[in-house]
Amino acid sequence: MIHEPVYRRLVPWVVAPLGARLGHPLWTAARRLAERQWDTPQILQTRAEARLRPLLEHAARHVAHYRDLFARAGLDPRDIGSIAALAKLPITSKAELRSGFPARTTADNIPISRRQRMMTSGSTGLPLECYWDRSTLPLLAATELLWLEWAHTAIWHTRIVIASPAHFYNSLTPARHVRGLISALVLGKRSVTLPADELTTARFQAVVERVGSRGPYFLRGYPRAIAGLAAALSEEGTRLPSNPRVVVTLAETATAANIETMERVFGCRVVSWYSAWELPQIAHSCPDNPEVLHVNAERLIVRVVRPDGSDAAPGEPGRVVATDLANYVMPLINYFAGDRAVAGTRCPCGRGLPTLARLEGRESEVIRTPQGREVSAGALGQLLTFVVGIIPYVWEYQAIQTAPDALSLRVVPTRQFTSDFASRLRCELESFLGIAVSIEPVDHIALEPSGKRLIIKSSDTLT
Ligand SMILES: [Zn+2]
Repeated sequence: MIHEPVYRRLVPWVVAPLGARLGHPLWTAARRLAERQWDTPQILQTRAEARLRPLLEHAARHVAHYRDLFARAGLDPRDIGSIAALAKLPITSKAELRSGFPARTTADNIPISRRQRMMTSGSTGLPLECYWDRSTLPLLAATELLWLEWAHTAIWHTRIVIASPAHFYNSLTPARHVRGLISALVLGKRSVTLPADELTTARFQAVVERVGSRGPYFLRGYPRAIAGLAAALSEEGTRLPSNPRVVVTLAETATAANIETMERVFGCRVVSWYSAWELPQIAHSCPDNPEVLHVNAERLIVRVVRPDGSDAAPGEPGRVVATDLANYVMPLINYFAGDRAVAGTRCPCGRGLPTLARLEGRESEVIRTPQGREVSAGALGQLLTFVVGIIPYVWEYQAIQTAPDALSLRVVPTRQFTSDFASRLRCELESFLGIAVSIEPVDHIALEPSGKRLIIKSSDTLT
């Protein structure tokens, strides 16, 4: 086995320049991404719009779902010549994609060999099968390299992946196995996977001892499982032999309380890798301003939209609707994958890439008040963290809406939790939400069958 310090020199100084000179698609894409992140917003927009038009024409001609969508809306693909004009096109939902797969959602003119079959774990209760376009695989790999660099880590650092077993399903295909061996050999990529539902501090510590002797490592996975681990390590007073370089969170929205716990216990920064199975690599924390996320504009057009489909203003929350400019096998155009975010403004780091100011969580994770208000997981987190100041008192929380006018907040208390704090928490929440609130201290908050943890559950998702 070649050791980590070898790859630290080999990959940037030999493999990458040689690959780019030989025209290898991964390394030419990596070079392109590294340069284009600094393009102005106008240049990025012009390029995205130039790629949008042929995609729309392709989908309208070769994909039954979009052919009907354009017909029903009385639109011609040529009517949509700009990103702003996408607001005219109806939004495609996950349910439509699911019911239409594969006949209505797959292009009839792309060779079968370009289909990369993917399956989601169904964290929202909607399992989904889809196709990636195999022609985009080098670009996906190049984006991974860039994003690891943004996270201040590298492909040759060992990754400890903490997620659900279902999350690993897609890595078992033979083609991926071969690619995995190649990346292990050429790039020094190493992974250790720990199922979130079987995670113990002893098991984690044993893994860190083993991988830490090879060189730097980082954590990647579900933020609430990793934050739960951090809390348990802190309660036990366990010190790790070495800290991770970074915690890369995915698949769920990390709460401010989760981030604070992970940063404190692991002594490193926490970044967000925003992705969906059907729509990989949507956005990633800015390396210079980690509170905002940069959209993957090289491959995607991402819009934050209001209920009527129009674009949200900067600072305004809405649904995340994305268009994948590279997937011609199963086009995703104005597609809503179920997440909410706050629209961003230009980032002061100098990158022209568009931003999301914040991820707000799943659309299904909302508290609905009798007055008709909808409070997202993000908004609840802002209140609990910055107004109530929940962090020193509570490791973890979950809101359960038990009735239209009643909410129970489950909390995993720290040693500083007191009944005074519990009553202040209840009062603040009641005045914010206008409904009856009870505070329920618990030992732990169970994972969903998918291995994820929800911040908000309502009676309709309880069944
Ligand atoms: Zn930035």
